[in-house]
Amino acid sequence: MTDANNDHLNSLNNAAHDGCAEFQAQLPELIGDNQDASLHPHVQGCANCAELVRDLMYIAQQAKLLLPLHDPSPELWNKIEAQLPTKG
Ligand SMILES: [Zn+2]
Repeated sequence: MTDANNDHLNSLNNAAHDGCAEFQAQLPELIGDNQDASLHPHVQGCANCAELVRDLMYIAQQAKLLLPLHDPSPELWNKIEAQLPTKG
C-alpha cells in the first residue's frame, strides 16, 4: 500500500456524485415548495442524497404537523379559553 493509493481512495469518496452540493443547496427550496424531492433526477442516481431526502422529508413532515401550534389565531385561543374550566 502506498500513500498514492490512499489519496486515490480519498478522492473517490470525496467526488461522490457530481452535483450533490448543487442538489443539496436546492433541497430546502424543493421541500419548502411541497415538491417531492425524491423524484428529482439527481436522487434517482445518488443513494447518498436519496437517504438525505428521506430524512429531510420526514423532518419536514413532522415540522408541518407541529407548525399550526406555533401560531394559533386569536379566535382559536378564545375557543380554547372558553372551553377551559375556570380555576378557582
Ligand atoms: Zn448526490
